[in-house]
Amino acid sequence: KKSSLTEVKIAVLGAPGVGKSALTVRFLTKRYIGEYDHQAETRYKHEVMVDGEPILFEILDTCPKNDEELPLHDVYNWADALVMVFAITDRRSFNYVRRVKQTMLDTFDLPVALVANKADMVHLRQVSTEEGEILAKDFECCFTEVAAAEQVGQIADVFLEVCREVLSVRRKNK
Ligand code: GDP
Ligand code: MG
Repeated sequence: KKSSLTEVKIAVLGAPGVGKSALTVRFLTKRYIGEYDHQAETRYKHEVMVDGEPILFEILDTCPKNDEELPLHDVYNWADALVMVFAITDRRSFNYVRRVKQTMLDTFDLPVALVANKADMVHLRQVSTEEGEILAKDFECCFTEVAAAEQVGQIADVFLEVCREVLSVRRKNK
């Protein structure tokens, strides 16, 4: 018998090296390994309780080859929500998420969580918290500064919160 689990599909987007895989693995396993496959896009399926309801998370950990490679429309068509990641230590990665948002234009209206990763590397900071907050206002989404290297709970909250948004939009559209 096919299970009737509620599925929520999340695509994790961002420039190479910002910590997309580290964040995804942190959320799914609570672990931080430090080194991740840099070659391949990976799709995970994992059941997580959200406010007492079991949700099947499908997470697409995207893997652009370089700063120029933006997500294809297929990704936006597939996803219920996006986690957009930049690193506070990498100005170019901040510009990357801005460009990603531009390519979506108004065609795709998906819940977004904007995440600034590598918050442990304050001494190498290139993007201020305020800039992140301003961009989030522009995106009309939430903004969180995290460190996949150090945190578990706050990272889970990002995924759970964007999942709640998806569920709430679905309920409204029913
Ligand atoms: P991806 O290309 O976006 O998937 O990035 P990865 O998850 O492979 O991470 C790229 C590099 O950044 C790896 O060497 C990670 O160990 C490192 N990294 C990821 N998150 C953090 C973090 O929060 N702090 C620090 N200092 N390094 C991180
Ligand atoms: Mg990766």
